Amino acid sequence: MLTDDLYCNPRVREFDEPFKLSLTDIDFVPFGTGDILQDAERRLGIIVASDVETTSCSPVISTSELTRIRNNVVSNYNSLRNNYSNVGSSLDSSGVVAQYSGVFDAMEGGNYCYRQSDQHLIDDIKVCADGANQVLQNAFNQFASNFSARISPIRSASQELQAAASSATNSVEPTLNAYKRLWANNFQFHLHNGVNGVLDNLISEYKIIMEGSNTLFEQGTNRVQVNFEAEVRQSNIVFGAFGRALDYWSNQDGATGYGMYVDNIRMYQDSLNKISGFTVLASDLNKQIFAEIDLHIAEIKKQFAAFPNFVQAIPTTGFILDPNTSALKFYSRQAVLNLAEAAGSHFTSQIAPGKSLIGTGFSYQHGGKMPPHKEHKDGKDCDIFSEYFKVGASTYDETKSVQMATYLLENKVTRLIYTNASVVAAANAACPANAVAIIGARHETHMHFDLDTATALSNG
Ligand SMILES: [Zn+2]
Repeated sequence: MLTDDLYCNPRVREFDEPFKLSLTDIDFVPFGTGDILQDAERRLGIIVASDVETTSCSPVISTSELTRIRNNVVSNYNSLRNNYSNVGSSLDSSGVVAQYSGVFDAMEGGNYCYRQSDQHLIDDIKVCADGANQVLQNAFNQFASNFSARISPIRSASQELQAAASSATNSVEPTLNAYKRLWANNFQFHLHNGVNGVLDNLISEYKIIMEGSNTLFEQGTNRVQVNFEAEVRQSNIVFGAFGRALDYWSNQDGATGYGMYVDNIRMYQDSLNKISGFTVLASDLNKQIFAEIDLHIAEIKKQFAAFPNFVQAIPTTGFILDPNTSALKFYSRQAVLNLAEAAGSHFTSQIAPGKSLIGTGFSYQHGGKMPPHKEHKDGKDCDIFSEYFKVGASTYDETKSVQMATYLLENKVTRLIYTNASVVAAANAACPANAVAIIGARHETHMHFDLDTATALSNG
């Protein structure tokens, strides 16, 4: 059934926060302390191998002093080589760079004026310098290889994020998953740049990916959000139509207005189904949107439950339904139908044997304005016609009219409207305990009676 669908509240899947990371949230260690390698080469380049003649340069460094420097350089180099000939899976270059610098610091400037006989000491220092450069190169090749392995899953997540962000329509899930995976694979490093070109390029790529990920996240989720809000706007437009249907029901035509309302439920349900097809972020705005939809649904259920559902009248002995009146207009409360039937039975047995009362209108099944009547909205009104009630016609019979009117007063109608003043007076006089007959215009062909709600209920 139509309304049962509405009881299944639409609920799109929402993601709980925190769902978004930022570069500032991670321990991202900046890199770059200058071009170590270049510095080292410069220092080596200015070592001056002096002539044996001590006068060509001065002051001449003593053998013992040069030996001390050479031993210190060798010691530092051995330490570098022993500690960093293999950096393993490390992504921290601070140790090897410090140790590497230590080798060159031990050269104490590297600009010597020395004796030719000390050439072997200078050669040792050169060997250490070359070795230190080699250790540094090897270490940074390994750092580049390590970094390459770590950035690989980030790169593929970034590609997926890019694809998801540019094609998202009604689900943030692919964007969110790629974004989460990207950041889940994030890693810390402390590496110097300017040493290894491959590593420098990888670090640049890393920065571009991580800094761009938030933009892609926004792009993908915004695409979904725009579509989602458009659908919500559409559902709000449909929701507005319920009020117009109710207004039509109340003031124009109850049957048509009720039909409009039911049709609109179908349209609203379609709209809710579309909204349910979305997966959006659990933002404050979206939570507010869902709360509003819940309120709308509750309002619709309440309105719909408030429509009456009256009983259909059926012809009985002495009471028939006017074939010239729309069948839609023969619905009412059971007590009103019972009284109409009883009146018909009384009419054919006691007032006009062989004749029937003709019902010319009760209410619509679901109430509402029933043109051309001003009343007949709420299942308490009934119009009955007979040729004997037709004032001014040759068939008019005042006695029968008084008998009918009196019967209705005796049976506790809460109001009786008829055009003929003398009939109204006679009926009220005959039933002083319930003298509710009144004179009304445009009731010269039929009698109109009401049973108000309280009376209808007490009459069963
Ligand atoms: Zn009426």
